[in-house]
Amino acid sequence: MNSRTITIVGAGQSGLQLGIGLLDAGYSVTLISNRTPDQIRDGSIASSQCMFDQALGHERALGIDLWPDAPPVEGISFTVAPPEAPCVKAMSWSHRLDAPAQSIDQRVKFPALMEVFEARGGKLVIEEAGVEDLERYASASDLVIVAAGKGEIAGLFERDAERSHYAAPQRALALSYVNGMKPRPEYSAVNFNLIPGVGEYFVFPALTVTGPCEIMVFEGLPGSDMDSWKGLSPQEHLENSQRILRTYLPWEADRCTEVELTDPNGILQGRFPPTVRHPLATLPSGKTVLGMADVVVLNDPITGQGSNNAAKCAAAYLSGILEHGDGAFDDTFKQGLFESYWQYARHVADWTNAMLAPPPPHALQVLGAAQENTQIAKRFANGFNYPPDFTQWFMSPEAATGYLDSFQAAR
Ligand SMILES: Cc1cc2nc3c(=O)[nH]c(=O)nc-3n(C[C@H](O)[C@H](O)[C@H](O)COP(=O)(O)OP(=O)(O)OC[C@H]3O[C@@H](n4cnc5c(N)ncnc54)[C@H](O)[C@@H]3O)c2cc1C
Repeated sequence: MNSRTITIVGAGQSGLQLGIGLLDAGYSVTLISNRTPDQIRDGSIASSQCMFDQALGHERALGIDLWPDAPPVEGISFTVAPPEAPCVKAMSWSHRLDAPAQSIDQRVKFPALMEVFEARGGKLVIEEAGVEDLERYASASDLVIVAAGKGEIAGLFERDAERSHYAAPQRALALSYVNGMKPRPEYSAVNFNLIPGVGEYFVFPALTVTGPCEIMVFEGLPGSDMDSWKGLSPQEHLENSQRILRTYLPWEADRCTEVELTDPNGILQGRFPPTVRHPLATLPSGKTVLGMADVVVLNDPITGQGSNNAAKCAAAYLSGILEHGDGAFDDTFKQGLFESYWQYARHVADWTNAMLAPPPPHALQVLGAAQENTQIAKRFANGFNYPPDFTQWFMSPEAATGYLDSFQAAR
């Protein structure tokens, strides 16, 4: 047994995964959650949480891949549909992922992993952590990590203006968890539809509290027709989802003629600014706590990377702490731990922020070429599993031109 004690605030994707990993390595770990397992299970959905193979691999490594029979997400499809009538596809292609992705409703996953955490010897405390509590944890533990997602306490960490690309929300977000959707032919996929000037819609299979379902995700541009969710009842929210599909994406509306909500809590709407924060917060006593995952790098969900990032951040922090051995958990160590994660996360943030802007000509050229060239479609689809790859061939006009030219040269 390692004599060092670590307290993690937030029993979500990153906190649970890191907590369980540290327990397995012999650390004494306390997890603070502001919700009981029952409150999470009986509460509202919070995400669409599609996770790709690399992130799932971190869960497999800890033996917390508890849903092998959940519906797989086998590919990515990409369609551009201009908003002007008639509704037609200006561009459309799809490709299989090298390994399937998976989405387990956090209402299913978090309570189950809280149980695993306790069964492996962790201490779970139910309380809403505030600054005074952080002081208490910092006095009693060698290291305090804040993994509270979008919780208010994340505000203790100062926004990093240099690394934050946007200051305001870029999309009005809406989710509907549904049953009764007609399956996609051939293989299951994230069906991603881009409607220029209006927003994006994507949909894929998942596992929720009632069993298998499909998750409909709307990313409306502020002020657009897809920014129309406030004050709706669950049924009105679903009807608005169907209306938007009938207006702009009739091929998706056709899949949804029989859909119904999985449960009254199966809807969500909101918005937030993508934000990078400084990784250390200083408490009134002068002690510091370290931020993790969404607390420090919060992306818009348009590329479905938040849970993937959380899993990768937890894995990076775990290996950094283990490699550090008996070294002091001082500010240099904490800052370094974040910077090693940021070397990965900055690519995800760059790609995600780029996807929120109108696509530049080089991006449209590559996406158009993917329609004719399956190698390009395959590389784009699998980029969701490892977004730093996009930097090599998609993110700049030079990289995109070089990549497209390589196919000409090979002819
Ligand atoms: C609409 C939408 C769709 C999304 N779709 C996807 C997707 O398809 N794929 C993907 O990878 N990501 C997606 N995400 C993002 C993903 O859900 C998050 O990025 C991920 O859950 C972050 O993990 P985390 O560990 O940082 O925080 P969380 O998983 O949010 O966990 C934080 C936990 O801390 C608790 N907490 C908060 N404050 C306190 C406090 N003061 N004291 C104690 N506990 C506290 C919360 O209750 C929560 O359980 C989506 C997000 C949204 C909003």
